[in-house]
Amino acid sequence: MSFQDTEVLIVGAGQAGVAMSEHLGQNGVPHVVLERDRIAERWRTARWDSLVANGPAWHDRFPGMEFNTDPDAFATKEQVADYFVAYAEKIAAPIHCGVEVTSVRKNIGRPGFHAETSEGTINARYVVAATGPFQQPVIPAIVPDDAGIHQIHSNSYRNPDQLPEGATLVVGAGSSGVQIADEIRESGRKVYLSVGPHDRPPRSYRGRDFVWWLGVLNKWEAAAPPQGAEHVTISVSGANGGRTVDFRDLAADGISLVGRTASYDNGIMRFAPDLSDNIANGDANYWSLLDEADAYIERNGLDLPEEPEARILGPEPECVSDPILELDLAGAGVTSIVWATGFSVDYGWLQVDAFNESGKPKHQRGVSVEPGVYFLGLPWQSRRGSSFIWGVWHDAKYLVDHIMIQRGYAHYESSAAARSAPARQLSGAAVSGS
Ligand SMILES: Cc1cc2nc3c(=O)[nH]c(=O)nc-3n(C[C@H](O)[C@H](O)[C@H](O)COP(=O)(O)OP(=O)(O)OC[C@H]3O[C@@H](n4cnc5c(N)ncnc54)[C@H](O)[C@@H]3O)c2cc1C
Repeated sequence: MSFQDTEVLIVGAGQAGVAMSEHLGQNGVPHVVLERDRIAERWRTARWDSLVANGPAWHDRFPGMEFNTDPDAFATKEQVADYFVAYAEKIAAPIHCGVEVTSVRKNIGRPGFHAETSEGTINARYVVAATGPFQQPVIPAIVPDDAGIHQIHSNSYRNPDQLPEGATLVVGAGSSGVQIADEIRESGRKVYLSVGPHDRPPRSYRGRDFVWWLGVLNKWEAAAPPQGAEHVTISVSGANGGRTVDFRDLAADGISLVGRTASYDNGIMRFAPDLSDNIANGDANYWSLLDEADAYIERNGLDLPEEPEARILGPEPECVSDPILELDLAGAGVTSIVWATGFSVDYGWLQVDAFNESGKPKHQRGVSVEPGVYFLGLPWQSRRGSSFIWGVWHDAKYLVDHIMIQRGYAHYESSAAARSAPARQLSGAAVSGS
């Protein structure tokens, strides 16, 4: 396969790459999308079997196309992947699958970049890194590999059958950890769930899903996480038709809640004494959304049903009031650990000066400090919604606006020079081969 050099090279064809292609196409900007696997691959093979979207189908989508399902249902991961394949077809996105970009470097003495790929070299004036918010699984260095415990990241968890017999410790109580813990518990195993700081909005309140509440209350648009809450995960689930995550219910079902996983020594796992605080802070987040929703309903005179029962939370479970601080894993029959502990990024292929000392992109709303390089799909890139399906579409629009402005500058000529040169089109300015 050989490529035409192009004006914009997009690396990655998940939702971010598809959104970027749509906006570039609408503006008539020549571009190419290179994807090492398949369109929306991570939805197919980097997630567990039973995963459904966290938001209902009417919300977790691009503006230009609806899901082929009940709008209030939660699309399965395969339906999400199929949606992006269909979307790419609809917009005739110039996506080349099975092509890995191995390096991108600046051209010397002329604008643009050249990329080495598994299928040859391609030149482009602009490069968009759309390689995902969740690239490299992160497992904290707590339990040594030779501890005799089967350890996997949530990224490689598929279903309970892949785990050895015995009890499981799930570390992390964001959306992934909670759903995985519940599924393993349902399969008949004993489960310990290590709960750190989290937000836990109600699944729905007074007849509206939480995605609607976060929308009308402008919370998806928040530009930065609240001070001190940068690493607070959000616990929501669309599983089983969508239910509020309440750790009391998980405990009542038989899951033993423990605090943040702190250390491991000689078969003994230790947990921070923060479980009760973490649950209380999650509850406070829950209450605050109910309060803001009530105030919004009153302010706007909406006719939405009262839901007083949403304000009734059960008593603190015993595992919270008298928490386990140390667990002899073998004694408790724990044979596996699922680390639902998040991800980091790896931009090793993007060899430009656009990263801080920890390898994170230096950018403003996705516009890199390296002119011509853009990032798309980063967590909190411009707002809370940035790494989610509906948010990335708006960030893509912003980046394409920025590219259009830069194209204008790139094609500026002084009026005297313009008079003496034949007129040129502003568009169609693909960088020529090296
Ligand atoms: C468990 C889980 C559940 C989620 N549920 C939801 C949800 O319900 N709703 C929602 O809105 N969001 C959800 N998200 C968040 C977000 O929507 C997804 O993470 C989504 O996959 C991000 O899309 P993306 O296009 O930014 O990145 P990705 O989907 O990660 O796509 C990046 C693509 O780049 C490719 N790539 C990487 N490096 C290269 C290279 N060097 N050369 C070529 N190709 C490359 C990869 O193969 C990949 O296909 C969820 C995330 C997780 C982890």
